[in-house]
Order: sequence, then C-alpha cells, then structure tokens
Amino acid sequence: MKSYNSFAVQRAQTEEAAKILRLDDATTELLLHPQREIAFTMPVKMDDGSSRVFHGFRVQYNMARGPAKGGVRFHPDETADVVRALAGWMTWKTAVVDLPLGGGKGGVVCYPRDFSLREIEAISRAYIRAVAEHLGVDRDIPAPDVYTNPQTMAWMMDEYETIFRLHQPGMITDKPLQVGGTEGRRDATARGGVYAVREACAHYGVDPRGTYAVQGFGNAGQRAALLHQEILGGGTLVAVCDSRGGVYNPNGLDPKALVTHKLTTGSLAGFPDAEQIPSDDVLELDVDVLYPAALENAVNEHNAERVKARIVCELANGPTTPEADEILHERGVAVLPDILASAGGVIVSYFEMVQDSYRWFWEESVVHERLDKIITKAFHSVTGAVKDKNVRPRMGAMLVGVARVAEACKIRGWV
Ligand code: GLU
Repeated sequence: MKSYNSFAVQRAQTEEAAKILRLDDATTELLLHPQREIAFTMPVKMDDGSSRVFHGFRVQYNMARGPAKGGVRFHPDETADVVRALAGWMTWKTAVVDLPLGGGKGGVVCYPRDFSLREIEAISRAYIRAVAEHLGVDRDIPAPDVYTNPQTMAWMMDEYETIFRLHQPGMITDKPLQVGGTEGRRDATARGGVYAVREACAHYGVDPRGTYAVQGFGNAGQRAALLHQEILGGGTLVAVCDSRGGVYNPNGLDPKALVTHKLTTGSLAGFPDAEQIPSDDVLELDVDVLYPAALENAVNEHNAERVKARIVCELANGPTTPEADEILHERGVAVLPDILASAGGVIVSYFEMVQDSYRWFWEESVVHERLDKIITKAFHSVTGAVKDKNVRPRMGAMLVGVARVAEACKIRGWV
C-alpha cells in the first residue's frame, strides 16, 4: 500500500487553488510554505526515574489574517511534514469560515496510552516550556487535537501562566469550564459538521433521516454519532469503528450505548447486538452520510471506488487524498471538505478567546446559534464558488480560503 505525505497532499491542493485564482508567483510561493516552524527536543522525567527525550513541533503556517491557531497532537506517527500539512489546513480552515485568525499546528511524537497521567502532564508542560515565547493571544493559540484534551490544555495554560506570571486563559482553547473554557466547545467540531450535513442534504436532495456511519470514534466521531440524530431529528447509525475494529448493525446502533461502551471498556470490541467488522469496511458501506473522523488519507485511490455514501462529511483533517477526491467527484459523491466540515471546533475556540478577553461568558444556546450561522454562511460561500468556477467542493472551499489569505498578504504589502 502506498504511503502518503500529507504535506505533499496539502500543497497539491494549495497549488491547484493558486492556479485557478491566478495568484502571482511570490504569493503562491508564500502560501506553499510555513511562515515559521520550530522543532525541538523535550527531556522528560518518567515515573521510574529515567529520562526520556521526546520530539516536538510547532508550525505557524500563515499569520496574515491573525495569530496562528491550531491544535497540538500527541501521536506516535507525528512528523514535521504531518504538522506542516495540518498547519496549512488550519490556515485555509480559519479563512473559509472567515475568522480573524491564521493557521498553526503542533505535535509531540508519543503514544499517550503508554504513559501515566503524571507523565502526560510532564510532556504537556515540557511542550509549553519549549515554545512559550512564540505563543500568546496575539501570537499563536493552541487547542486539542488527536489524543489531547481539555486537561492537557489546563496543564499547558498553567505552565504558560507560571512562566510569564500572568493570567492569560485565551492563550489556549478548549480548556475546562472552571479555568476559562466555553460552553459548547467539546462537541463543536461534530456539531459544525452536522450543521453542514443539514445544509448539504437540502442542497443535494439527500434524506437527512437516512442511514449514516462514523469512521473514528474519538471526540469528534462520538459526538457526531450522537448529534446527527439530535440535530437532524432522526437517522439510523449502522456502523462505527475506531483504529482497532468496527461494529455493524443494518437495523441501527444506539449511539449513547456505543459511547458508554467505548468510554468504559476503552474499545468497541464486545459491543452487544452488532457484527464485528474490520475498521476499513466502515468507509465502504452503502449509507446516506459517512463521517470520516480519524486520521489523514483514510479515503485514497485504493478504496474511493468502493465508497457508496451520498455525502462524505470530513470531520478529520485531510482524510481524502487528491486522487480519491477526483474519484468521489466523478462518482457523484458529495464531499463536505474538512476545512469547512471540521471548522466547528476552531469557530468555538475563537468564541472562547473572545469570552476570555472580556471575562464574560455566553450561554450554550448562544454558542450553538452563532456556530450555526457561521457554518451555514460558509457552506453557501463554498457552494457559490463551486458553481462559479465549476470545481469540486474541496476546491470550492480552498478557493474561498486561499483567496482570503492571499488578499490579506497583498493588503499587508508582503507580495
Ligand atoms: N484541532 C482542531 C482542528 O483541527 C481545533 C483547532 C482549534 O480549535 O484551534 O480544527
């Protein structure tokens, strides 16, 4: 099986958008590279008294529209190129939903399941010590990503505030409510995706109460399984999977029971009343809506021909390779591209920053309403670009995002 370089994938998308937009060479060159990147080592004391050196990254891809914004991922397969790709996608994501932010991303090469909570705290604090001077509400604002969560953010915020001896909760987002978090952040990525699905069902004439499947059962996947039925007023969840396996029942799975099973046992194995299936099979089921909510390159040229969903709502970052994107388009599968479909998280992160700066917090219903408005508007800007330029949805979203960033670079006098 071919292995993919996500940075090459992200650049291919950016290059195509730059060509369609007829950007000049200097602007294109600027947008194909991160503005700034930092790679570092982090020595951490482990529970058994030994020291272990971890490798970390922070990439600030583009800051023309605002400070860099994007998560920190703890993952064993993390590389500089994966972080660069994700930082680029954050740049297009914040622009397509028109937030006053740039794009960034960070990562540590590690598998948190191998460590105690104390060790994860030590890694989180070491990460902040390594990048502290590059972070801050007006510089770069991290958030969670794969295998990081609000507790990780609380430790990171505390380390930052300890170093600089000040309170600055807005320097990081998706914090626990008790230390400056916002209502509605935990389910925001999935909620934004489901709002986009609601719009897409109306646009493409797909039944919103039909069948759906979820690939990846972390924060975004679990919430999507639950929220799909809540927001769309029904729907039959036929399959979900995580990295170790999937469960399938054509008559419907109970999303609440699945989340409880996963949280109590740590996996989907042994879930009653369902057939156990290989993870990859979930991508190929005949469903109305498929939510890829795991990692990059899940839908590629090897399986795209077999994807039978009417709508693919990309909650993961970069789940579809460029070849697969073409194949899905030719086969009439409507893709809700990641930079639009997964933008709910960063939209509510932005709400959190605003609330932190005013120290004045909103009710959950206000967060939902404002998130819905932003996603719905962005969905229609993207479908407008798709129509105007006769491109597939991913390129429609890229055109909106890349054009906004290019414009900011020009107005600043950079190019
Ligand atoms: N990690 C999330 C993403 O990829 C959230 C980023 C943020 O809130 O800054 O969109």
